[in-house]
Amino acid sequence: MKSLKSNLIVLGSVGLLFLGACSQGDQASDPNNSPTSNPAASQTAPSPPNASPAATAKTEHTKTSQGGQVVESGAYYLEFLTQKQATGTHLDLYLKKGDKREAVSDAKVIAQVQLANGTQQNLELKYDAEGKHYYGIFPGTEAGQYPVKVIADIKGEKVDGRFTFNQ
Ligand SMILES: [Zn+2]
Repeated sequence: MKSLKSNLIVLGSVGLLFLGACSQGDQASDPNNSPTSNPAASQTAPSPPNASPAATAKTEHTKTSQGGQVVESGAYYLEFLTQKQATGTHLDLYLKKGDKREAVSDAKVIAQVQLANGTQQNLELKYDAEGKHYYGIFPGTEAGQYPVKVIADIKGEKVDGRFTFNQ
């Protein structure tokens, strides 16, 4: 029994050697007709999944809560970031409290933008629960530097910070 198994293995190996020799010969004579071509290699690789197309439909928020202008007022921490867009400037305000910098979600936030002609435009910033920040769109398109005062009313406790942005 043992010797029979060994013989079968040897026969199998010899068969593989012959197959290899045959395919090499075929490829050399006719490269378009290779019967032993690996079917896995000829399959097209699946295309990678598209990066979330839904995210582009929403208004663009700034990517991180870092690198903005920071004002600390009492226990509160205000960080202001802007992002220029086709229709104006997207304003982002991160309002955080305490050493743990916990996001404050229940404040009423107003941005008072000083315009070049001396008038002031008040924008109410809405809370974006997903991004944990307040945001609004300043609709002006005139280039310049705009001072802005942000006032946050946290259940009657008012904190404010002064910032500037360019567009
Ligand atoms: Zn935003």
